[in-house]
Amino acid sequence: MSTFKVDLTNCDQEPIHIPGRIQGHGFLIGVSSTTHLVHYISDNATHFLNTGAGSFLGKHIVEVETSMNISKPEHVPTISNLIILGAGNGFQSINPFYMEISGKGYNLILTTSNNIYLLEFEPCELDKKFDVQKTIGLSISEILLESGLPSLLKSAARQIKKIIEFDRVMVYKFDDEGHGHVIAEEKNDDLESFLGLHYPASDIPKQARELYKINLTRIIADVQKECPDILTYMGNAVPLDLTHSVLRAVSPIHIQYLKNMGVRSSFSISLLSHGELWGLVACHNYSPKFIDYKARDASKLIGQILFPALEYRLGEEDSQKFEQVNAAVNELVRYAEKDNDLVKALTGNQLTINDLCSATGCALVYDHDITSMGATPGTDQIQNLAQWIVDNCTDSVYYTHQLPAVFPAAREYSHLASGIFAVILSKERTEMILFFKPEQTEVVHWAGNPDKAVLPALNGELPISPRKSFATWTEVIKHSSEKWSRAETAALINLREQLAYQINRNTNELQRLNARLELAQAELDMFSLTVSHDLRTPLTTIKGYTEVLLHTNQNLDDNAKGLLGKINFCADKMSFLLKEVLRYSSYSRTEIKPGRVDMSRLIEDVRAELEISTVVNSVVVIVSSTPPLYGDAAMIEQAFSNIIGNAVKYSSRSSNPVVRIEGHIAGKNIIYSVSDNGIGIDKKYHSRIFELFQRLDNAKDYDGTGVGLAIVKRIVERHEGQIWFESEPGQGTTFFLRFKNETPP
Ligand code: ADP
Repeated sequence: MSTFKVDLTNCDQEPIHIPGRIQGHGFLIGVSSTTHLVHYISDNATHFLNTGAGSFLGKHIVEVETSMNISKPEHVPTISNLIILGAGNGFQSINPFYMEISGKGYNLILTTSNNIYLLEFEPCELDKKFDVQKTIGLSISEILLESGLPSLLKSAARQIKKIIEFDRVMVYKFDDEGHGHVIAEEKNDDLESFLGLHYPASDIPKQARELYKINLTRIIADVQKECPDILTYMGNAVPLDLTHSVLRAVSPIHIQYLKNMGVRSSFSISLLSHGELWGLVACHNYSPKFIDYKARDASKLIGQILFPALEYRLGEEDSQKFEQVNAAVNELVRYAEKDNDLVKALTGNQLTINDLCSATGCALVYDHDITSMGATPGTDQIQNLAQWIVDNCTDSVYYTHQLPAVFPAAREYSHLASGIFAVILSKERTEMILFFKPEQTEVVHWAGNPDKAVLPALNGELPISPRKSFATWTEVIKHSSEKWSRAETAALINLREQLAYQINRNTNELQRLNARLELAQAELDMFSLTVSHDLRTPLTTIKGYTEVLLHTNQNLDDNAKGLLGKINFCADKMSFLLKEVLRYSSYSRTEIKPGRVDMSRLIEDVRAELEISTVVNSVVVIVSSTPPLYGDAAMIEQAFSNIIGNAVKYSSRSSNPVVRIEGHIAGKNIIYSVSDNGIGIDKKYHSRIFELFQRLDNAKDYDGTGVGLAIVKRIVERHEGQIWFESEPGQGTTFFLRFKNETPP
């Protein structure tokens, strides 16, 4: 038989389903499923046969049976008949089969292992009339009397303890990382309690977990008892797979683990949820104790019935919570449907996003703005976090209860946001709703230091021994918040779905409106272009005839000359206005000719031109850094000419007029500012000054058309930039022009 040397470096690979040995409280015979000849037999079967167990290898099961001192009534089938019977109907229907061997009661349990039938004989300790159904019926009705989850679990532990009569029964739940947590316990009074203790995931290797899913109960009757070998005939290299066996020997590591804990017998019942191991009912006895098959079965059924009840209770609690959160989600979505202003809809009513879940703060990152509510990190921190989420998350929601572990920058504000839930509205625009949960220092009591689960021996080698210390070891977990509940997660995912739909609808609507607006704008531009063009011809005629009259007619009196002079002046003004309108209209259609724009030269040119065209040489113009722009040089020159021209014009009558021009790089943008210490602009006009022909009261003593800023705005927007200003009446104005910081190809 193949041997596998196990130490703690490889216990995850230890083939525990083929140990080559069984537990000594019973014996095993493995027969071929087709010939019923013996292929495997445990060494200790010798005690029940006349001769050595090995001599029965290759013999028919009938021969083995006749060598055993079996006493049974006439009508009871023989083992060989039983095999035939069970193979047809399924062994479950006949397990366990009671018989007396050498005057002692035994249960025969039949299972299949590949092409081998396993016949396992275990002592029968219970009255053979033990009624499993009645026992569990009574227990279950008592368990289900309990309403709260903790008392339900405790009651289940109590009932199981009553049936198996072990010293300690614990209900053990696995968390997401695989660590176990004792959530209910029933024990003898003289024992210390393990309730609330955590056991590291490394205590149960992967393949043992898999076996827990297949065998729902597992008894280790006595960790001290010798494990007999399984014999097979010479040349049979196929190890016997004991996955479904009830007598399977225990891994030496696990035996040592139990010994270290002072446990002599152990019994476990698997608690499965959706096919996964949710937890275990783990039972310990401090003296050797075997549990009869029927009692094991009864406890297994309790586990199986308990679990759906437990899931139902959990589900009920969950769905109540979900209904609650989701009702609020639906209400908010209704606001968003009615109000196109999403920020107002989500944060401006009596019910806001901050009332949705157990988060203590939230932030809406939307439309280049952040609206925070409750306890949240600062705006810059939220901005960085949102960027990190967009850069790193593939899904439309992201949540964690340990943010600093994945995003170290969050350590700075872990007291506010150790837990986050991001409902991502748009990745492209970095738009999302963020929910924050504060740090909640968690104190975890481990049954022994989990980091010392593997202890090197003094000689430096790894011993074949698991951890020895189970003394309570307290770990303080920082930078961690309360977890996001299933109900919250489901409701917030729903929020994201509904808002995404809503935003999509609004965006489509907006796109339709935009398209219509663009069409209207184009029509208007075309109209003004045609009108201004067509008006220029009659205007030139008017001006021409006025000139002729003025200069050729000798009979005009002074009054008539004065009137003709006014006509001439107005015609000039109108001509200038028409030129401006033409220029304004043309900027919407002129193709942009992009290139690197040397701003230092451009500003110099503008300044030179202004000095010629204005009489105000007294204005001091200070130019600082001038990073180059990338765009249409002619258009950009026009924009700066208008802005700088205004600054010079509207500050020219100040006592020490100064105009400052400065550009700086701000990440992906270049921002130019042009400030003056001139007349300033009253707040009430702030929204109007970029409109065509808007001339404010402050400008009535200054020449102008009210077209300049409208042109600048159009040029900046054609470059996908932005223009805004800050001003104080009587103090001065600063205009800001933002352009993209692009490098020419
Ligand atoms: P205008 O030809 O009248 O200067 P603009 O379109 O350039 O037309 O400006 C619109 C109005 O904005 C101006 O009439 C003036 O009232 C105000 N304005 C623009 N620039 C300044 C400035 N630097 N200081 C104060 N007011 C300004």
